[in-house]
Amino acid sequence: MTTGLMDNSVFNKNLFAFLYSSPTPFHAVANTRDFLLQHDFIQLHETEHWQLDRGRSYFLCRNNAATIAFTLGSMETAEHGLRMLAAHTDSPCLQIKPRADLKTGSYLQLGVEVYGGSLLAPWFDRDLSLAGRVCCEMADGSLEVLLINFFRPLLTIPSIAIHLDREANKNGGINQQKHLPPILCQAVEQQLPDLNSILLDQLKIEHPQLMVREILSFDLFCYDFQQPVYTGVKNEFISSARLDNLLSCHAGMTALATADKTRNNLLFCANHEENGSTSTSGANSSFLDSVLQRIIPDAETRRIALSNSFLVSMDNAHASHPNFMEKIDPGHEIQLNKGPVIKINANQRYATNSVTSAIYKKICREAGVTPQEFVMRSDMPCGSTIGPITSALQGIRTVDVGAASLAMHSIREHTGARDPFLLYQTIEQFLKSEMHRQLTR
Ligand code: ZN
Repeated sequence: MTTGLMDNSVFNKNLFAFLYSSPTPFHAVANTRDFLLQHDFIQLHETEHWQLDRGRSYFLCRNNAATIAFTLGSMETAEHGLRMLAAHTDSPCLQIKPRADLKTGSYLQLGVEVYGGSLLAPWFDRDLSLAGRVCCEMADGSLEVLLINFFRPLLTIPSIAIHLDREANKNGGINQQKHLPPILCQAVEQQLPDLNSILLDQLKIEHPQLMVREILSFDLFCYDFQQPVYTGVKNEFISSARLDNLLSCHAGMTALATADKTRNNLLFCANHEENGSTSTSGANSSFLDSVLQRIIPDAETRRIALSNSFLVSMDNAHASHPNFMEKIDPGHEIQLNKGPVIKINANQRYATNSVTSAIYKKICREAGVTPQEFVMRSDMPCGSTIGPITSALQGIRTVDVGAASLAMHSIREHTGARDPFLLYQTIEQFLKSEMHRQLTR
C-alpha cells in the first residue's frame, strides 16, 4: 500500500484493498499492523517494558482485534496534548457458533449467531465466505492463534422460493435461529465432513509450515465474498461490505502514517462497537487509558495533556435515502459526496458539542472541505458510537464525525466515491493543525 502523492483514486484503490483483505477485525488489525510496520512504526507489547523516544511512532494490538498507534512529537511536549483519532474494527455479521455443525439430510449447515445490529435480509442468496481466528494446540503442545480466511465463495443462505411463501415480500420476518444457518456442503453418497476437519484442511493450506494437532476454539465469521466496486454512471458511488467502519480505520491509519513526526498524534481502532464496546478491546475498556498512562506516566502531566487533547471520533453517518425522505429531519439532509458529517444529538448519543463542532469546522476550512451536519428526527431514536464513551472516560473534547453512507449495517453498504478522501483530508489537516489548542478553558 503506497501513501506517497495521495489523490482520490489512489486513496480509494488502497481503501478497496484494505476492505477486501479485512473480512474480520482480526484481519483488519493484521493489515493495519503490516501497514504501520511499513511506515516505520515500532510494535510494542503490553507484556513488556516500553522505552519510548520523541520523534518516533509506535503501535500495539490487544486481543488481535484492536490497535492503538501513536507518534510522540519531536517538537511538542506531553502538555501540548494529543491529536487523537478513533474508529472501530468490527461490523455487523453472522458469527459461527462453537459447536456449529448442523446435519440436515445430505447437507452440512453451520449454526450462527447474529453479531451486532445486522440487516438480515441482504445475507440471503449471497456468495459467502468464512474467516476469523483459530486457537490451536500445536504438535509441541504449545498454543497458537492463527488467522484463517477461505477467501472463496463457500456458504449460502438460500431464500425460501416465493411459490412456497407468497407473503415473503410482505412480512420479511426472519427467525434468526431457524432461517439463517448457511449451507456449507453436501454429501450425497459419502459421509459428510465436519467443520473441524474442513478448518484443519484450510489451516494446512494457509499455514503449511505449522504442525497443528488440534483446534481448541475459534472466532469465525461469515462475510460477503464480493469485492468493493464503483457504481453510478460516472463511478460516483462506492459499494462494499464493512464500510462501517473500516472506511474510518483506513482513513485514520493513512493519516497517522503520513503525518510528520513533530506532533503528538494517536489513533485508536477499537473492537466491539457494534455490540456495546464493553470488552478488553472495546472503547469501554482499559486499553486507551493504560496506553496513555504509559506514554505520560506522571498523573498531573497526563491530566494537563488530556485537557489539551482533542478527539475526532470517526464512524459512518446516515445519508438521506431518496426512497425514505420521511425519515429525515428537514434542514439536515445529508448527501453522498458532499463532505464529512458532524453528528449531533441533544441526549449525548454523539459526543459533539458546539465547541468541538466549531473546532472541527475550522479544521475543515483549513483543509478546503465543507462539512455537513446530522441530527436524527425528534420522533426517532438515535444510534450511538465510540465518541461519547471515549470522551467520558478520558475527559477529552470530542467531535463525532463520519462519511455519509446508505444501507448502514447491510452486507453491502454505499458511500460516495469522494467521501472517504474528503474525510481523510480533514483528519490529515487536523494532525498538523494547531486548532485543537483553541477553547481549552
Ligand atoms: Zn459504526
